Amino acid sequence: MDEILLASGNPHKLEEVRAVLEPLGLRVVGLDELETVPEEPEEDGLTFEANARIKAIAYAHATGRVSLADDSGLEVDALGGQPGVRSARWSGVEGERDVRDAANNRKLVESLRGVPEADRAARFVCAMCLATPDGTILAETRGTFEGVVTLEPRGENGFGYDPHLLLPGEGRTSAELPPGEKNARSHRGVATRAMAPLIEALGRS
Ligand code: IMP
Repeated sequence: MDEILLASGNPHKLEEVRAVLEPLGLRVVGLDELETVPEEPEEDGLTFEANARIKAIAYAHATGRVSLADDSGLEVDALGGQPGVRSARWSGVEGERDVRDAANNRKLVESLRGVPEADRAARFVCAMCLATPDGTILAETRGTFEGVVTLEPRGENGFGYDPHLLLPGEGRTSAELPPGEKNARSHRGVATRAMAPLIEALGRS
């Protein structure tokens, strides 16, 4: 295996995954490189793992390529784990990614107003799944990135809820990390690095 499709249209995710897997000699193809981009499957799983499987299998089947999908989001303990698998569209506002991100972040702040910082523990979670066109799951991994929700957004890097995830003891948000450092520490970085030896082992088998 020397090439996999990343089943995501999010350019930030593509950049983060490429940074980890391409040094291993694995080409990570983005959806933007396909002549025809398959229709997005309905992500109706109840867990990050279930949605990652749905996406990996759907894109692999539609394109005939081994596909890697991730499903990720923010879990806030004080909100019973919300927004969870609904992170991308939690606010219900439709539109471009940055419009949706801004509306989600407003909802996050409103939902946690009045909750003391000590009770605002949260984490990004990422589940990854690698599947073949016939629906075989080759590998699955998970990563988390722990923090505390800050009501005052800070930082210009990253996307989504990054400006609101404060890293305990550091005084920096996830959006204040340089991209290389975010890759090295984030939920997606952890899940992607855990994929690396599994993919290498598949290549040898
Ligand atoms: P997905 O594309 O279905 O996996 O949805 C992921 C959603 O979770 C994104 O739209 C963001 O709102 C949020 N999310 C996932 N990973 C991150 C991250 O690294 N930083 C900020 N928000 C994230």
